[in-house]
Amino acid sequence: MIKKDVVIIGSGPAGLFTGINIDGRKLDTVILEKKSSAGKKLLISGGGQCNITHSGNISDFLDKYGDKKRYLRNTLYGFTNEDLVEFFEKRGLEMEIEESGKIFPKTRKAEDVLNILLNGLKKNNVKVEYNTQVLDVEYKDKLEKFIVKTSGKDYEAKNLVIASGGKSYPNTGSTGDGFTVAEKFGHKIVKPKPVLTPMYVKDYSFKNLSGISVKVGLSLWRDSKKIKETIGDMLFTHINLSGPVVLDFSRYVNPGDILKINFLHDKNKEFFRKEVIDSLQNYGSKYIKTFISDLNIPNRLGEKIIEISGIKKDKICAEITKDQREKLIENLTEMNLKVDRLGDYHLAMVTSGGIDLNEINRKTMESKFIKNLYFAGEVMDIDGDTGGYNIQWAFSSGYAVGRFINENA
Ligand SMILES: Cc1cc2nc3c(=O)[nH]c(=O)nc-3n(C[C@H](O)[C@H](O)[C@H](O)COP(=O)(O)OP(=O)(O)OC[C@H]3O[C@@H](n4cnc5c(N)ncnc54)[C@H](O)[C@@H]3O)c2cc1C
Repeated sequence: MIKKDVVIIGSGPAGLFTGINIDGRKLDTVILEKKSSAGKKLLISGGGQCNITHSGNISDFLDKYGDKKRYLRNTLYGFTNEDLVEFFEKRGLEMEIEESGKIFPKTRKAEDVLNILLNGLKKNNVKVEYNTQVLDVEYKDKLEKFIVKTSGKDYEAKNLVIASGGKSYPNTGSTGDGFTVAEKFGHKIVKPKPVLTPMYVKDYSFKNLSGISVKVGLSLWRDSKKIKETIGDMLFTHINLSGPVVLDFSRYVNPGDILKINFLHDKNKEFFRKEVIDSLQNYGSKYIKTFISDLNIPNRLGEKIIEISGIKKDKICAEITKDQREKLIENLTEMNLKVDRLGDYHLAMVTSGGIDLNEINRKTMESKFIKNLYFAGEVMDIDGDTGGYNIQWAFSSGYAVGRFINENA
């Protein structure tokens, strides 16, 4: 049995940054990692370039995690996007901001981010034990200690941090193990669900549009009621719908829901109807495909919309029947698609759900049930939009836990 002051489960960004914020010379700390190396998911983040955070005021971040605004405030303000950039730049890794607001290391290498974290740990005297899968944890009341059983040696720890991630991309090591440990200690797990994931719709007929990205208005309907709407870039792939607007929306979507797509995101259906009637009357000799491309719709998409509206693409405006006109207006401004399923954990970038926030102190990330048990990162019931918000959460929560343990243990 190896005795430690702090055991951290998981060497993703949350676990690594927790370790960096604990003074390893004062508190004997180890990170247990089941894989043979650290940060496997961090390394593939942002297509290997690591979209580490987002620009702007930290107050703008609060709306990027669904309805968790109140819970997040303290932790995000405690270690902001600016703090994150400063942390890396001070250590020689400059950051750059894309036009979209996404922040990446200038080198565009996630590996450089990971190396700075690993160097920081080394300097801090915190070791990562690889190939060490935590199998079970017990709490000894009398000793006020955790017994951590692993595939290698067993550990006894005064403080335990669960930073084992969610369930997405299981081959990176995140397979929901932290949920099992937390449940054992009486914590409720909000049902995990794959999010930031593409959507498969019934009778997908856009295979040939693969690679086309368009700005759309997207609304979500359930039982004939509108639940949410948003605007953003949607990508057609050969099998499903993707792109930032779809990925961010996936958090709210269930199979069977209806998506209504407005390809003219800045126009509403009724307003557009009048415009179309006028245009078709005034420009009767115009080809219908020219009329559509004048709406700034990519040609291939325009042809598809004409086809599914039952119109031959060589028709001129004067030849369009009233029925065809109505179908065209509907398909341009309110195309109805039924969601068949969401991409599974092998495609989803993030897991929504996880350890119930009501049972975790929002300032210290400590369990409300067991003293000295902490959580950080995606294992908690927090998931952010695309754009760097998830890695920011991993860092901010790791910072909160590390600092608290450091000052209070
Ligand atoms: C393809 C992809 C691209 C992404 N791109 C971005 C991006 O650009 N920007 C962004 O903000 N977010 C991105 N994300 C999300 C982001 O990577 C995660 O939210 C973040 O890595 C979560 O950090 P974490 O430390 O909480 O968990 P993880 O990174 O999942 O790390 C958990 C660690 O715990 C270990 N572990 C699990 N169980 C055990 C156990 N029983 N014993 C020991 N170790 C264990 C795992 O092996 C793993 O190393 C992306 C995700 C994916 C899949």
